[in-house]
Amino acid sequence: MLINTSNINEIDFEKSELMPAIVQDKNTGVILMQGFMNFAALEKTLDCGKVTFFSRSKQRLWTKGESSKNYLNVKEIHTDCDFDSILILATPDGPTCHLGSQSCFENAKPDLAFLAQLNQVISNRKNDDPNDSYTASLFAKDISRSAQKVGEEGVEVALAAVKQDIEELKNESADLLYHLLVLLQRSETDISDVIKVLQQRHK
Ligand code: AMP
Ligand code: ZN
Ligand code: ZN
Ligand code: ZN
Repeated sequence: MLINTSNINEIDFEKSELMPAIVQDKNTGVILMQGFMNFAALEKTLDCGKVTFFSRSKQRLWTKGESSKNYLNVKEIHTDCDFDSILILATPDGPTCHLGSQSCFENAKPDLAFLAQLNQVISNRKNDDPNDSYTASLFAKDISRSAQKVGEEGVEVALAAVKQDIEELKNESADLLYHLLVLLQRSETDISDVIKVLQQRHK
């Protein structure tokens, strides 16, 4: 169930004063961290739009990022089937773990999440110096070059599949996915918009 200011009382704080709260990256699906929320922490999270926990070590409300500025910006708050745990979809301003990694569960990343991470890397690099970054060099060329790349890589994928050369199929598919992400970004759209089309078709 989606939680907002009007149904916050659905969450079963009678069962436990501190609810486990899992924070997941809205864009990549990577689990970023887990903390605990009391009612006041949840209220503050809804109110200010930044994930706020009740810190058991500090024994006070703690807005993640309050000193590091690596805030977790709330997109959606969910509770589970029996209203005794919280899942927050958020976009992080920087590394979430105080040890410097993206996630506190450092290496626990679902495979498909990397596609979203790569998409972010492409977006971050597009305005870099074309001499330092292959991605930036693509963005510096005419969009027809990116369109041509997608066409070429698509043909290479098809040829590898016909040959049943699995190593080549994997490599050419990687090329195709990368160049498709670039082409979509250059067309004022994004892989997430494509995924929405797939989701709509599924209904
Ligand atoms: P921050 O909220 O990012 O400004 O960090 C403030 C303090 O909270 C840090 O010095 C750590 O002690 C602690 N802290 C920050 N991030 C985490 C985390 N992901 N898990 C546990 N403790 C954290
Ligand atoms: Zn439950
Ligand atoms: Zn951590
Ligand atoms: Zn290729």
